[in-house]
Amino acid sequence: MVMDGSGIGSSEKTCVRSITTILFDLDNTLIFTREADSATCATVASWLTNQGLPKEESRQITTGFLQKFREAPAPNYPTDVAGLDKWRLDIWASVLPEIYHQYIGDVYSLWKLERLNRLSLTPSVISMLEELASDFNLGLITNGPSVAQWEKINESGCHKFFDTVIVSGDLDVEKPNKCIYELACSELKVNPSECIMVGDKIETDIKGGMNAGVGATVWVNARNKSAPDDIQPDFTIVNVTKLPDILPTITAASQNEES
Ligand SMILES: [Mg+2]
Repeated sequence: MVMDGSGIGSSEKTCVRSITTILFDLDNTLIFTREADSATCATVASWLTNQGLPKEESRQITTGFLQKFREAPAPNYPTDVAGLDKWRLDIWASVLPEIYHQYIGDVYSLWKLERLNRLSLTPSVISMLEELASDFNLGLITNGPSVAQWEKINESGCHKFFDTVIVSGDLDVEKPNKCIYELACSELKVNPSECIMVGDKIETDIKGGMNAGVGATVWVNARNKSAPDDIQPDFTIVNVTKLPDILPTITAASQNEES
């Protein structure tokens, strides 16, 4: 079956049951991790400049931090909060010239506070989740190290919106492995074909949803990227808050195919 969703992508599907469940990715889907990390480093750079560092040097220091921070080294990633703090402090120490090492503690405190503030759910995402929760089971499936992902989940307060929260770092599988979706479905007591998977990363979120045989995949494509030929999402939206707009189309399609 091919659906026309006025600019919304579509594809053929079979054996889809009524949609009962929505599975979400976390980073860059529900919270804007990429933007938060960049904006936080800009704030720290301004702070360093206010301490007397040249503007360009402040920018280079924080850019260097972000680069190393994003190279998170599995399998040696810290496993507890103290280890996580130490790993991040060590990165700041490696990018701050020694004459500025007096600032390491303050820089880290500022960075952590600013970043976690920015990783909160926006009011529009919160109201969407609250509304969806009255009609659907909601699940969160996130890839990443346990301690780092749980820090974001707990600080953003998003845990309370979900009937199950699954962090790949707590398991030996991650998206796009279908087993992580099957675990979520098992916890929610639903069949994958009853689920919609929503996420920003096509190679993991969407590919994984396809691997698991979910009822529909929804790609949050804020940057207007092209999908590879072998991974075609059923629907594409530019922001997760657009999901309710297309839900009637998705659920109607699944009911038609059920009959
Ligand atoms: Mg993501």
